Amino acid sequence: MPRDRLDDFSGQDEDEDRKDKKSGKSLGTKRRFEEFECPICSANNPCDTFGNGDELICNWCGLSYKALVDDEGNLRLKEL
Ligand SMILES: [Zn+2]
Repeated sequence: MPRDRLDDFSGQDEDEDRKDKKSGKSLGTKRRFEEFECPICSANNPCDTFGNGDELICNWCGLSYKALVDDEGNLRLKEL
């Protein structure tokens, strides 16, 4: 039954997609965040949803950052 086998394979592919979405990797630079850790004072800042290129201000030390999200969905903060 070749057709049944194909169905099984497509099901597995969906599982892989879901895993990627959970880690944010498949979203890449389009990944959105709702909090960030300040690189200077290490404070955790919950905030409105932000993404690549958005400006952030640490609620604790008041420094401004630009959010940079790379192709793998990793967040980096550049001090402004
Ligand atoms: Zn800070």
